[in-house]
Amino acid sequence: MTLALPRSVDAADVDGKIVLVRSDLNVPLEDGRVADDTRIRSSLPTLRLLLERGAAEVRVCSHLGRPKGRDERYAIAPVRGRLGELLADSRLQVLENTRFDERETKNDPSFARELADGCDLYVNDAFGSAHRAHASTEGVAHLLPAYAGLLLLDELRNLGTLLGAVDRPFVLVSGGAKVEDKVGVLESLGSRADAVLIGGKMAAELAAQPLLEGVPLVLPTDVVAASAFDADAETRVVSADAVPEGWLGLDIGPRSREDFAREIAGARTVFWNGPMGVFEWPRFAEGTLAVAHAVAACDGFTVVGGGDSVRAVQEAGVAERISWISTGGGASLELLEGRELPGVAAIPAE
Ligand code: ADP
Ligand code: MG
Repeated sequence: MTLALPRSVDAADVDGKIVLVRSDLNVPLEDGRVADDTRIRSSLPTLRLLLERGAAEVRVCSHLGRPKGRDERYAIAPVRGRLGELLADSRLQVLENTRFDERETKNDPSFARELADGCDLYVNDAFGSAHRAHASTEGVAHLLPAYAGLLLLDELRNLGTLLGAVDRPFVLVSGGAKVEDKVGVLESLGSRADAVLIGGKMAAELAAQPLLEGVPLVLPTDVVAASAFDADAETRVVSADAVPEGWLGLDIGPRSREDFAREIAGARTVFWNGPMGVFEWPRFAEGTLAVAHAVAACDGFTVVGGGDSVRAVQEAGVAERISWISTGGGASLELLEGRELPGVAAIPAE
């Protein structure tokens, strides 16, 4: 399967035009400040391209957090401030949080019309929101000539590689807590993989009900069990089928770490989504760190997706050794499930 790509902003004539850009500036905030500006930085190439090619005005919009209507805690001001530091240009405008208007998530045409008003072109660069049919991600694409931004296209090309004829062995690594969100990808990509390494909460759930037929699942053989869900709980390394009654497996064990690392080392293609344990607590972070280092050391094509997995890769200090780090959590999973992303489908093809 190859992915049909939407037409690129690179092919648009933007000279003298007013361009509406939907970026993904949904960054974490702490005490009213931007705690991590990765998404802001990732949106710069498209904005720079538009400014360099003579756009008269670049009007950027994004959602921030999940406010239900106007809520000053999610005001766009700190994001606007950070973007202004990274890219100072009087032609750059940042609109208020799109979700301050309740018509946004309803994909209300009247809100899409307000966004489009006065603009000549629309560029969607918000891969992380492309799986949502909202006014700023989908509705407005029908009202203006629509193009895909550079980040959106990079995401589609890199993740799309996993949907095509990949170099083998193809190893999938899956973990984390949001099991229901991930089963779809295990079903679609898992049957094409040579090994599917499972950690996190998912390991216990799949061991209890092996529902995935035709998927080469590799479950952990040992786990770090804890007496409670607590950073300071009593812990024991036990065989995966011998977790004491009432205890919880909160990380993969040392033997599983070695087994997983060996599989990853031999892979030519790797997709990793979901940490191997409760890596926020150092005593349960070893499995996730081992996988992060193994994926970094693998010289095949490696992709990491998912907010927490990406954070783990950054904390391990190996981000620059991964072939592609996806900025989209839910969107990357839906794409890899083979689903159409409404924000992409609304842009004419190349
Ligand atoms: P991602 O954001 O990478 O898609 P998820 O959001 O699905 O990943 O899962 C991340 C969370 O999963 C982390 O907060 C981590 O603490 C938790 N987690 C990992 N392993 C376990 C486990 N065995 N039991 C409970 N929670 C876990
Ligand atoms: Mg997460």
